[in-house]
Amino acid sequence: MSTATDLIALQPTATPRSAEERAALMADPGFGRVHTDHMVAIRYTAGQGWHDARLTAYEPLVLDPSAMVLHYGQAVFEGLKAYRQEGGGTAVFRPEENARRFNRSAARLAMPELPEELFLAAVDALVAADGAWVPEVEGQSLYLRPFMVATEAAVGMRPADEYLFLLIAFPVAPFFPGGVRPLTVWLSEEYVRAAVGGTGEAKCAGNYAGSLLAQREAASQGCDQVVWLDAVERRWVEEMGGMNLFFVFADGRLLTPALTGTLLPGIVRDSLLQIAPELGLRVEEGRIAKEEWRAACASGELVEVFACGTAAVIAPVGAVRSAQGDWTVGDGQPGPTTLRLRAALLDLQYGRAADPHGWMRPVG
Ligand SMILES: *Cc1c(COP(=O)(O)O)cnc(C)c1O
Repeated sequence: MSTATDLIALQPTATPRSAEERAALMADPGFGRVHTDHMVAIRYTAGQGWHDARLTAYEPLVLDPSAMVLHYGQAVFEGLKAYRQEGGGTAVFRPEENARRFNRSAARLAMPELPEELFLAAVDALVAADGAWVPEVEGQSLYLRPFMVATEAAVGMRPADEYLFLLIAFPVAPFFPGGVRPLTVWLSEEYVRAAVGGTGEAKCAGNYAGSLLAQREAASQGCDQVVWLDAVERRWVEEMGGMNLFFVFADGRLLTPALTGTLLPGIVRDSLLQIAPELGLRVEEGRIAKEEWRAACASGELVEVFACGTAAVIAPVGAVRSAQGDWTVGDGQPGPTTLRLRAALLDLQYGRAADPHGWMRPVG
């Protein structure tokens, strides 16, 4: 088996930040503001394929103003985390799944696929070089952001012939610094995120650009996040911002919207579909309409709702606002099933629980 260093040339920075500077930056890292010392870059040229893989200093890019990503938006990304392990060392949660989804996203945008081995080698190399940036503090982690953009300098409406893959990393604070807090969500009935046949199941930058106005609308309604409905009937609940949704019923059943082609297939969602039955919970993929959501909360059949994704792991939804009115989920507080699943995932990710699925990849 080839190792990261066979595949990626190591050209570390001569001027990493000092331990004191790093400690100061990591004291309050926020999200996406504090980058580590290094990055991995890999180039692609049609005909030649992937080449010139290297770990270098984190530094600005030189990009031609005609670079195709700046005009037509060929850009895909991933998000995954490295966690300090209870027993020592660092491990990354299910990076193979991110590598596969990255390639599905790339294929949808007519971009080249990156060999899974190279994706994983990039993760290994960066976490090894920047291991000191993996936080020791409970609840913090090192967020890894792989992405790929079209760099060919040609303003033409076609798939580019040149691309750049980059991997950067940020130590991140807990999503809920003061402890888990229920979110209030806004049902977006005017804007839609994705339609069948579109790019909804690809993790592409454009999906986010198209969602910002709805997110701003949600904020102006005093909400934390947007909940997206299907594009055709504007009834069926799809997902929330950058997270998937689960509905917990009083009879113990869990429901998550099925992957219709318009939802992003979350890796935390997939993990919960596997873990929940192991905890004795019944879980199904199906559909729920916005009016059913409201009625089932009113009748007491629906007791908890939560969102899941890499950034927050699990975030409870306490209240819903919409143009037709507002309602509360359960008693508006994080419910026991939500908290139990959240604890189970976090225990696994921080190496406090057994890992029967082999989901944690040791790195560094
Ligand atoms: C990334 C993402 C998710 C969550 O995916 P995870 O792999 O669980 O982090 C959900 N919805 C959207 C729109 C996303 O971009």
